[in-house]
Amino acid sequence: MNLLIKGGRVIDPSQGIDDTLDVVVENGLVKEIGKGLATSAGAETIDATGKYVVPGLIDMHVHLRDPGLEYKEDIISGTRAAVAGGFTSVCCMPNTKPAIDNKAIASYIINKATTDGFCNVFPVGTITQGMAGDRLAEMGELKESGCVAVSDDGKPVKNSELMRRALQYAAGIGIMVISHAEELELVGEGVMNEGFTSTELGLKGIPRVAEDIATAREIMLAEYVGAPIHIAHVSTKGSVRIIREAKARGVRVTCETAPHYFTLTDDAVRGYNTNAKMNPSLREADDVAAIKQGLKDGTIDCIATDHAPHHIDEKDVEFNEAMNGIVGLETSLPLSLKLVDEGLLTLAQLVEKMSCNPSELLGLGRGSLKAGSVADITVIDPAKQWTVTESVLASKSKNSPWLGATMTGAAACTVVGGKIVFSGR
Ligand SMILES: [Zn+2]
Repeated sequence: MNLLIKGGRVIDPSQGIDDTLDVVVENGLVKEIGKGLATSAGAETIDATGKYVVPGLIDMHVHLRDPGLEYKEDIISGTRAAVAGGFTSVCCMPNTKPAIDNKAIASYIINKATTDGFCNVFPVGTITQGMAGDRLAEMGELKESGCVAVSDDGKPVKNSELMRRALQYAAGIGIMVISHAEELELVGEGVMNEGFTSTELGLKGIPRVAEDIATAREIMLAEYVGAPIHIAHVSTKGSVRIIREAKARGVRVTCETAPHYFTLTDDAVRGYNTNAKMNPSLREADDVAAIKQGLKDGTIDCIATDHAPHHIDEKDVEFNEAMNGIVGLETSLPLSLKLVDEGLLTLAQLVEKMSCNPSELLGLGRGSLKAGSVADITVIDPAKQWTVTESVLASKSKNSPWLGATMTGAAACTVVGGKIVFSGR
């Protein structure tokens, strides 16, 4: 299928482009970007007037739950949700059953995504075997089988010596370590952010310093061994400050946050709302302000969703018992576009954080509309109004704190490898 995407506002930070242009796609690749381009014979034309045309969005932190937990999500439903949210690539976290700690599981995911999925899936392997925190996984084998990073996401690597060796080894073979930064002794039996709201609700709190300390340890280890580190789902003002200071002195640290951390506070937990229970917890207004500042000044490199689908039976229980996490693939784009409306980010900066930066960090070879690039393209309708409902969400799971909310902005068309895989709701 050849495509002509006509008259959209093309924003491609990789080429410094922000202009009303046409994009020609041939044989799965971007052929040309320019003004007044003609359609080749047999090409399909997409009218992008009034829309944004950007390098396909990349979500570097997704739980597809496949293999082993397909009652929550699988590669087909998860990638369907991804393209509905405007994502052309996702990186899937290794806490599946079994975990992605060997070639067989990584190959299973890549093969199933290639044959049945709607978008690119780049698996993340584990740091330790079975995510048990005892012995390093075969990172070389994981990299060879297509894993783009390693992480024990969901758990921290408690043993600092093991983490040091993981960073050294990963740097040696050129694979990124993604840290779930959390100090478990401080977490204790906490179920939400420790503060005024947890006291009022009578719920056990998790102090923010549990994240700050773990972030600081990762940075000190990375600095000591001279290796890169990526901090997942940053949620506290302390972490933002520590990462900013580390970057300023040249530590190779990068990080991501998720839309819920710049949109919601722990007030959302009131009413014991289990769809506001996640890990890290929703924090407080000063944390939200710090996350926004970190996005603005470049401390925070990427916006990822931490899409964490759970079955209704795992959420429709007492708050203490409910599982952590929310679905995020389909609400990330409108929530992130708000940062542009608020004047916090330019559109180009948003595209960097949702496409160019994750591609560059993990070496995905995406995030650009340069001639010859793989034609992964998201056409965004910034004015589209829609309501988040269980039926509208393509994900198998419906655990969103935004059910019933009206969103502004959505993917109008998602193109993966030159093929239209989603064309609006
Ligand atoms: Zn995590």
